[in-house]
Amino acid sequence: MESLKSMRPPLFPHLPERLSGLEDLAENLWWSWNPGARMLFKTLDRQAWKESGHNPDKMLRDFPRELLEKAGTDAGFISKYDDVMDTFHNYMKQKKCRLLDKALPDYKFAVAYFSAEYGLHRSLPFYAGGLGFLAGDYIKECSDLCFPLVAVGFMYPEGYLRQQIRDDGWQENLVEPIYREAAPISKVMDKDGNQLVVKVPLTDPPIYVAVWKVAVGRISLYLMDTDVDINDPWNRGISARLYTGDLEQRLRQEIVLGLGGAEMLRALGVNHYLLHLNEGHAAFALLERIRGAMSAGKGFAAACEKNINTTIFTTHTPVPAGHDVFPFQLIEKYFNSYWPNLDIDRDTFFQLGIHPEKPDAGFNMTAFAMRFSGYRNAVSKRHAEVSRKMWQGLWPDVPEDQVPIDYVTNGVHVPTWIEPKMELLMNKYLGVDWQDKHDDPATWALIDSVPDNELWQTHYWLKVKLIDAIRERSRLRWANGDAGASIMLAGGAFLDPSVLTIGFARRFATYKRALLILNDLERLKKHFKDRWRPIQIIFAGKAHPADDPGKRLLQDLINLARNPQLGGRIAFVEDYGEQLGQYLVHGVDVWLNTPLPPLEACGTSGMKAALNGVPHLSLVDGWWGEGFNGKNGWAVEHEETSDSPDSSDADKIYRILEEEIIPLYYKMSNSGIPHDWVKVMKASMKSNGAGFSARRMVREYIEKFYSRSLERSLKE
Ligand SMILES: *Cc1c(COP(=O)(O)O)cnc(C)c1O
Repeated sequence: MESLKSMRPPLFPHLPERLSGLEDLAENLWWSWNPGARMLFKTLDRQAWKESGHNPDKMLRDFPRELLEKAGTDAGFISKYDDVMDTFHNYMKQKKCRLLDKALPDYKFAVAYFSAEYGLHRSLPFYAGGLGFLAGDYIKECSDLCFPLVAVGFMYPEGYLRQQIRDDGWQENLVEPIYREAAPISKVMDKDGNQLVVKVPLTDPPIYVAVWKVAVGRISLYLMDTDVDINDPWNRGISARLYTGDLEQRLRQEIVLGLGGAEMLRALGVNHYLLHLNEGHAAFALLERIRGAMSAGKGFAAACEKNINTTIFTTHTPVPAGHDVFPFQLIEKYFNSYWPNLDIDRDTFFQLGIHPEKPDAGFNMTAFAMRFSGYRNAVSKRHAEVSRKMWQGLWPDVPEDQVPIDYVTNGVHVPTWIEPKMELLMNKYLGVDWQDKHDDPATWALIDSVPDNELWQTHYWLKVKLIDAIRERSRLRWANGDAGASIMLAGGAFLDPSVLTIGFARRFATYKRALLILNDLERLKKHFKDRWRPIQIIFAGKAHPADDPGKRLLQDLINLARNPQLGGRIAFVEDYGEQLGQYLVHGVDVWLNTPLPPLEACGTSGMKAALNGVPHLSLVDGWWGEGFNGKNGWAVEHEETSDSPDSSDADKIYRILEEEIIPLYYKMSNSGIPHDWVKVMKASMKSNGAGFSARRMVREYIEKFYSRSLERSLKE
């Protein structure tokens, strides 16, 4: 099917022959984690690159023919172009995965990875938060490791939401429909040259999905889009946006993701050995695997058994709202023609998804996925402990500490999250091939050889860049004429790069306690107003469109930010997403995290910051239980028994700020270098680089689950 791609008309007919490779480059997200490739587009035209939102597809589409022709004869440009294309072709040519020595005779892919969201790049707004970035980083790393995986997800034409703050501080949810033709995605064609459309199995009236593909290095991510003509309007809207609040539509999304995703892979001729469910949203894919085994002659029980050894389920949150539960009457409505195909009756079907302690609550997607996956994991050590407690009811005969839920702590894709200037510095002191060995702690030990002044100057430059970008956003919104002055000032116009800067950016879910650091304003005011050693705090984050308590929290924050008594030292920056996230994790001085333990399953933004020498100040929860080593940041232990946990946690944070962070940061040498602070920066890079990389994570998944499962079936 893919070979038909060559029959496709060129996307950019005005591209000169000498630069024809730019089309392949633009159509593969590999460019997004390769500074050389990004630089190539930027060199073509700085302004156009910026205006396209760093999206080569959009940039090339709109780019004038004369300028392309000129670049095609410019020796300097051509030499850069040839270099990048060589690197790209060499990358794409590698086939052998060093980590997988088991043969897969009958399968094209070892793993099919299903996820409701993917955070890959700002030009593809198919994510809401951490789960999406985890999935995006996961498949990028699989690409780097040549691991034979195929990924399945949704094409959300309306994305998540664009956040804009009204004058009264309330979050408005703007919809910004994606223009498919200018996004780095391509249509998958059928044999007649039309876009491939697949019917979701056993849906009546039928639901259809059109198939798109994103090339993520060597990995193909296939996306389903319900916005096609043959669907009725209600069906067309199924994939409109992420996590719709309407329960029935949500169920229909999960039917499409699970059943439709499995059918799509069949239609693509993509066979795979293992199924990896990234969170319970896609768990219905399990049903299709069981049904498939039954149509090959197995009975229901035997089909389940076979399926179990080849399914991996990753759970991502202990927060109850993160686990979908659907009322039985909705399940009945959509699955009454499904269960006869499994040779089971209604009640048996319902039993597949009941929560043992809440059997009447409905069909629980996590309980279902837990039961029917042979390998289950949480995303940090601490999260595994919490998950075992949460799901012990499924294994009533097993003591809590032996409930079969393992863990693989999340990690971040190093080439995506290391800032290019920081990367250059690493190239200089860690060796040019350090990225090939970035999961080896010995590589990062060389950080000690980086001169303090060079690391500090690089960091300071990134901080200036962050603050410039924030001010420019404020200025643009001001120039738009639709926002009052105080909202603009609250947006960061007063930020000062010489001031100790704390960053806090995350979804405004209440358990994340965004306002914890503002618990004692009088105490903070002293620091905001301190003439010699001031601090400032930059906030960002979206509330879920249906989460009014989250939006109220955000409104309170905006009102504080524009209160003159706080001296302009608090900023709230609109529309936290991949791009702003990059600026923030590179440019602040301290990354703050204040979840209510044990509700943060892992957290990854702190890893992105630490990788760039921004130390972490956090409650001990999620990854910080493993990450903190006494030298690489600051940890706050939460006390279960405390009557007012918020103020006791806040008090500990203030003490750390006052006694450790502020004095350390402002203790500069005569030449303006805070040497002791730089020590903490280095410790944070050293401990984080190898241990919390996506490479370490993917290797662990392969070793703990994928390889074990393969060995088991090869023995059978
Ligand atoms: C990494 C990332 C997240 C997830 O980080 P948490 O620490 O889990 O909150 C969310 N949003 C963006 C834009 C990110 O880059």
